[in-house]
This record gives sequence, structure tokens and C-alpha cells, in this order.
Amino acid sequence: MDSPIEHYLQRIHAEISDLKDGKPYSSIPAMANVDPNRFGIVLATADGYVYEVGDTREEFSIQSISKPFTYGLALADRGMDDVDAKVDVEPSGDSFNEISLAEGTGRPANAMINAGALTATSLVRGSGGNSRFKRILNTYSAFAGRQLSVSERIYQSELKYGHRNHALAYLLRSFDIIESDPTPVIEDYFRQCSVMVTALDLAMMAATLANSGRNPLSNEQVLDIAPVERVLSVMATCGMYDDAGAWMSSVGMPAKSGVGGGTIAVLPGQIGLAVYSPPLDAHGSSVRGVAVSQRLSHDLELHFVRAGRTGR
Ligand code: GLN
Repeated sequence: MDSPIEHYLQRIHAEISDLKDGKPYSSIPAMANVDPNRFGIVLATADGYVYEVGDTREEFSIQSISKPFTYGLALADRGMDDVDAKVDVEPSGDSFNEISLAEGTGRPANAMINAGALTATSLVRGSGGNSRFKRILNTYSAFAGRQLSVSERIYQSELKYGHRNHALAYLLRSFDIIESDPTPVIEDYFRQCSVMVTALDLAMMAATLANSGRNPLSNEQVLDIAPVERVLSVMATCGMYDDAGAWMSSVGMPAKSGVGGGTIAVLPGQIGLAVYSPPLDAHGSSVRGVAVSQRLSHDLELHFVRAGRTGR
């Protein structure tokens, strides 16, 4: 703990530890027993420096932070036009599990809400030994720079209790937005939500997005710049669901939250930030994740307007 940045993060971590609002996600029984006091912050630069404090090596389920990465893979597999025909890029202003489908066509508003995320999952290619889910998992792993795995316990719990996601997938099938059997799509979506990550993994995933799709440590080009540009755009406008406007005003970075307690934010060309803290606000985002992001954005001038200023 020698670097001034880690000292700074230590101070922020101590201060924001006093924030006790929110409750961990409880709709999925397998996720209800997490320790609400777990709290980790990781800052990773686009050139591979990592600064971490707190519970940064503890695994939790990635949940909706999976969505931008699957969307990116679908874009790479199918091309923009084919994906756009199925999922729009407009903020819905609705919460993550809203049944928000365009009238007449059934096209979901964006790939960050569940309806759009299920659709993106259905668009990822896969067959035989290179199954759709294997490709999804390998992509997340390449972003993180280590082999990730699924929590079978959380997956089974999602499958059993995620009634609305089952319903959404069948509704999407009825509109031909999902063109294949919805059951394997639902299964793969729940598997992707149940991938276990640490705050450190998430920071590397965010730093890879910040580094134009190239993992700064492994140097692997995981995703091309065109899908990265699209993914970050949709994260900026839709990543925080019905809190996206307030988030962009106060933090000013593309971001994604997950009900597992993770939050990522990306400053393109510069930084990937990840926070882990399970208690959630009314939008399903981590209370401390939002607080840390606001604080760091302010103190380190990470808001895109300030970060982009020249001649200082
Ligand atoms: N597995 C959760 C769901 O699909 C993920 C939601 C989230 O993280 N916001 O409902």
C-alpha cells in the first residue's frame, strides 16, 4: 500500500463504509445470504496499472454487468445492422426487468434491460463444442484476463425463480425477436448472470473497454473498436436504467450495475473502475457503488466533460 492512489482509495473506502443504506438482492434465494459489509474498490488504468482496496478478490455473481459484454459479442457475430433490427439503442427510462417492448414489433428498447439482454444472448453464435454459452464465458474471461466460471447454485436459483425472464423470453419469441427456442436462450442468459467475478475482474473488464477492446495485461484484442464504441454508447445512455440521466450528470462515465453488488464505469482511453458492495438502491444498483463513482469522478475529474478538458 505504497502508492498515493491506494492511500486515496483507502480513505474513500473508509468514508463510504459509513453508508449503510440499501438491501442486498433477495429475489433469488441463492443470493440473499451475502454479507452486506463486503466492500471493494479497484481502479485499473487502460495501460495496465491496478489500484485496489478492500474486498477486491471476493467472488460474486456478475448479473447485469454481463449484458454489455454479451451485446458486444452479438454485435461482433452478427454485425450492427442485424443486431439493431432486433434491439434498439434508446434509453427506456424503465427499470431493468420492465416488459418494455416496442408496440407492434416487440423490439426491446436497448440491450441493458432484461428484454434486450435476452435478445442479445439469443444472437450470439454457437454450435457443438463451441456452444453459445462457451463463447460467452470465454469472451468474459478474455476481458477479465483469467478463466471465469459459473455458480451452479445461483444459476439453478435463477432458473427456478426468474419467472419474469422466462415470460419475457417467450414474449420475445412470440414477436419473432427471438427466433429460436426460448428455453436454451433463457438458460444461457441465467448462466451468464451467474458467472462469478471479483471486483478486480470487473475492473480489468472495464479497463479492456477503456483500452478500445484490448486487455491491457494479456494484450489480447477481445473486441474490435466498432462494437466497443457501440457498447460504451449504450452503457452511457442505458447502463444505469431509470437512473441513467442522474448518473451521467453526476458521474459522467459509461457504466453498468448488477444486482450482485458490482458496478463498473469506464473512462475511454484512461480508466476502468469497479466497486463491489451488495446493498442496492431502488434502481437495483449498489448504493456504495454509486457513491464511490460519484466521489471518484469528482475528486479525480473523471466526468467526460472535465476529463476531456485541455490546457489545464
Ligand atoms: N439475473 C438478474 C435478472 O435477470 C439480473 C438483473 C440485474 O442485475 N439487474 O433479473
